[in-house]
Order: sequence, then structure tokens, then C-alpha cells
Amino acid sequence: MSLPNCPKCNSEYVYEDGLMLVCPECAYEWNPSDSVEEGDGLVVLDSNGTRLADGDSVTIVKNLKVKGAPKDLKQGTRVKNIRLVEGDHNIDCKIDGFGAMKLKSEFVKKL
Ligand SMILES: [Zn+2]
Repeated sequence: MSLPNCPKCNSEYVYEDGLMLVCPECAYEWNPSDSVEEGDGLVVLDSNGTRLADGDSVTIVKNLKVKGAPKDLKQGTRVKNIRLVEGDHNIDCKIDGFGAMKLKSEFVKKL
């Protein structure tokens, strides 16, 4: 049986501690049965470890370079109506002046 990657930092070095799973890299602990009960299995956490959901609004917590864009995405930029997706960049969204793009949840904070 293989353990899931850490939902917060995506580390592969997660280990079991009783009922909890523990990430040695960011010290995040969680109960794997929590997400199973909610059904969809897609757990996306923001930079504070708050769980995000489709339709949430977030702010960007650091300046981000955007491939192909003439300017950086500035810290504090608000992003409305996000959509969670599988993968490394796990937030689908539209940002004024940038258009449709994907973000990593670790670079945002829920409003
Ligand atoms: Zn981690």
C-alpha cells in the first residue's frame, strides 16, 4: 500500500503515525479518512493549510512570474471563483489582465 503525497507541500516522504499521516518536510499532520468521507478525494489547501473549495475567492501571497505575461502577478491580487483541479498547479482561475491561468494553492490564501 502506498501513502498519498502530503496535501500541503506534495512531499512523497509521508509516514503513518497511528491513524494520522505525517509529513516530515512541512510537519503537516492529517487524518486520511477525513477526506475520504467527503467523497471527491481532491484536497487542496492554501498557504495556511485552510481547505479550499470550488468558487472560493483567494489572494496571491507572493509575487509570481507568469510565463508569457509582460508583468508579474502581484502579491495581494484577488482571484475570484477558483476551480480546483488535479495536479501540480491545482487551481484553475481567471485573473483580470492575465486571463485564464493555473496557480499552485501554496501561493494563495483564502479570503
Ligand atoms: Zn508536507
